[in-house]
Formats: sequence, structure tokens, C-alpha cells
Amino acid sequence: MGDSEFSQDRENMVRYQLSRRGIHDARVIEAMRNLPRHLFVPERLRDMAYQDRPLDIGQGQTISQPYMVALMTQLLELTPEDRVLEVGAGSGYQSAILGYLASEVYTIERIPELADQARKRLEEAAIPNVTVLVGDGTLGHESAAPYDAILVTAAAPSIPSALKQQLAQDGRLVCPVGERGEQILVRIRRKGEEFPIERHTPCMFVPLIGAEGWGN
Ligand code: SAH
Repeated sequence: MGDSEFSQDRENMVRYQLSRRGIHDARVIEAMRNLPRHLFVPERLRDMAYQDRPLDIGQGQTISQPYMVALMTQLLELTPEDRVLEVGAGSGYQSAILGYLASEVYTIERIPELADQARKRLEEAAIPNVTVLVGDGTLGHESAAPYDAILVTAAAPSIPSALKQQLAQDGRLVCPVGERGEQILVRIRRKGEEFPIERHTPCMFVPLIGAEGWGN
């Protein structure tokens, strides 16, 4: 499939999977319309890149469904000045969307092979402002904190306290929280030392594994 066919696929993805389901943030729509999701999936799955589902990216991990990427991004309410932390780089696609919409992004991945691959793909997609780190993202990345927005793209038993502490005032944190097989997407917002919580939609993510996540 050529690039023009992929752009038609992206148009359809935006119209049928995002706009019709309530994604209304014009900047999120623009990012998803422009960024080449097919570059972030294994080559043999490229023709499926814009389908309404998560896809296997190797190492037992997945690239999230387009709608879930859009919803989580919309909940972060990003401005072009924001500094962002992502936990779970995986394919690097969500990181690319964050890089497109914010000023500076740090993304942490625990599996080194995925981190290497994400780095290459971000370069290929010409996204210059994302730094891919290897490590346990449940501890955050203290040296670049505080962050205006934090996104966790793996399922946590509860919101890691280190991440709350690295959130700026009025900063937003979005994370799937619950059991290993089923979670609710939640958003908290820092107000002083209070973190009021909102519960959004049921979801299913791969487990967050680490000091403040699940054991191996
Ligand atoms: N945002 C990704 C989704 C990847 S799935 C994308 O768009 O493709 C979640 C990822 O979180 C997996 O790659 C998994 O290896 C990673 N992960 C799980 N626990 C982690 C931890 N404690 N720190 C960093 N990454 C973690």
C-alpha cells in the first residue's frame, strides 16, 4: 500500500473511529490525521494499522487501539508549551502523538528492544522532541520533573505515588487502574497536595510491571 492509501485510511479512522465516538479536540484529531501510525507497527501488519483494534508489537506487548490513544490524549488537555512524561513507550506511536502536541516528551520503556525500536521509528516519523528512556517507569523520571501531563499506557494496581509527586500544579495524569485483566481509565489533576480523581471508561491494557506496579 502506498502513502496516499494510508492517508485515506487515516481519514476514515478519524471519521468513523474518533469523531463519531466523541473525540472533539481539534489538535488531537490533527495529530492523528497527520502521523503515520503504519510506521509504528510490524511490517507484516501495516495494512491493519488503521483498524479499530490494538495490534501485537512483539515481546507480548501491544500498540493501543486508535480510539484509546485519542481518548487518553484528549484527557491530557495538552498545550504546545507542556512537558510530558509517558510510561510504556511500546511502539512509540503514542509518544509521537504526544511529541506532536507538546513541547518536550520523556517516555520510559522497560523492554530495551522495544525502546530501541521506538527510538528508530520516532526518527523515521521526524518527531525530534521525544526522549526514549529504558527503566521502571513506575518510579517516573525525577530529573526532568515536574510534568504538566503524565500518561501511563499500561495497567496499574493503583496510581504510582512517584508519578503523583512528579506532577506540576494543575497537571493531569491519565492511567488505567484496576485488575490485571480489566481496568478503568482514570484522570487525576494536581491541586496542591490534593489529587481529585475522575473515572472515565472501562479498558484493558497489558500490565504495568515494576516497583509500584505488578510483579513479573
Ligand atoms: N504507548 C504504547 C503502548 C504499549 S503497551 C504504544 O502506543 O504502543 C505498554 C508498554 O508498557 C509495553 O511496551 C510494556 O513493556 C511497558 N511497560 C510495562 N511496565 C512498565 C514499566 N514499569 N516501565 C516502563 N514501561 C513499562
